[in-house]
Amino acid sequence: MVLFIVAVLLTAGTLLFTLFVRAKDIPEPAPVSPTLHLEERKARIYENLRDLQFEYRVGKLSDEDYQKTKQGLQRELSITLAELDGVKPEVAAAPAPKPDGKTCPYCGAKFPRPLKFCGECGKAMA
Ligand SMILES: [Zn+2]
Repeated sequence: MVLFIVAVLLTAGTLLFTLFVRAKDIPEPAPVSPTLHLEERKARIYENLRDLQFEYRVGKLSDEDYQKTKQGLQRELSITLAELDGVKPEVAAAPAPKPDGKTCPYCGAKFPRPLKFCGECGKAMA
């Protein structure tokens, strides 16, 4: 009977240890910039505008085609820039860790109660 209890405790201990280590090992998802797709779109539009100007200069495009395409791209660009402007304030207001003594301002380690010194990196938390 004692052996059975020991075996159960060992199994539970191993399981908890495994779960604990696994939870710590899982990497946090890389933060994706909310403006990334807009920046990419902006870069693509600029590229298209450059290509367009080049093709117009070498005589591949008529005046009318050039103006029409250019205006379309510029409209798309202004929409993208406006969207970027609309998104950026949120990024600027990204959560800054509160100095409550529980989160290290240097390494970001979190503790259940306020500490004077970080238990992870040893720097002063106050
Ligand atoms: Zn720290």
